[in-house]
Amino acid sequence: MARIELIDVVKRFKGETVIPNLNLTIREGSFTVLVGPSGCGKSTTLRMIAGLERQTSGDIRIDGELVNDTEPGKRDVAMVFQNYALYPNMTVRGNIEFGLKNRGVPKRERERLIRDICEIAGLTPYLDKKPQSLSGGQRQRVALARAMVKNPKVFILDEPLSNLDAKLRGQMRTELIELHKRLGTTFVYVTHDQVEAMSMGDRIVVMNKGEVMQAAPPMVLYEDPDNLFTAQFIGTPP
Ligand code: ADP
Ligand code: MG
Repeated sequence: MARIELIDVVKRFKGETVIPNLNLTIREGSFTVLVGPSGCGKSTTLRMIAGLERQTSGDIRIDGELVNDTEPGKRDVAMVFQNYALYPNMTVRGNIEFGLKNRGVPKRERERLIRDICEIAGLTPYLDKKPQSLSGGQRQRVALARAMVKNPKVFILDEPLSNLDAKLRGQMRTELIELHKRLGTTFVYVTHDQVEAMSMGDRIVVMNKGEVMQAAPPMVLYEDPDNLFTAQFIGTPP
């Protein structure tokens, strides 16, 4: 579990200000969902937390520790993307094992981790299959399993379900909520879909143009929106 703080974070790309001033605390063990229109800076925020993008100014802390200069591999954060980026020529086992091998985890430990995590992720029957023979939902589970074997303090998920059909998306939402309960780690989840946000998060951060419009539990956003943007965004059908 970890608490994440963004303090006066600014991000510019080639002089264009994408995030003018972001102050946000993500609570330890929460399922926090960042939601907002396309282009509002959700992915950039995640990438800065993961260390894949450096903020122009401001501080990022994980569990109180300043991570501004900490490289992604040392932040104890695992990220799952929308396009799962699996290695096509490797089996499910190979895909999950790859990162573990790179980190020098011994064979016996790798096997134990893969067995346990594939059990949780429902992948045990597919360990020797290649990604192209799997369904979208199964591939997404492989991407999750790959993140889970790292046993990170923080899971970062950037629109992980947007390539799935509606039925599977619904099922995966439930699975992710259960996974969060089971692991107890901090989840930071991004979606542009307000229905998905409201059904998954215990805390929702509504963003617009790189700013936090409101951060609150779903019921508070529904019943007591702070501003017109939040009220309209949450109240509009997707
Ligand atoms: P979201 O994930 O909310 O859709 P992004 O964080 O991807 O938004 O992007 C926010 C803004 O930053 C957009 O205007 C986008 O065009 C811009 N942006 C993102 N990444 C880059 C980049 N590497 N170079 C230049 N502009 C970028
Ligand atoms: Mg995005």
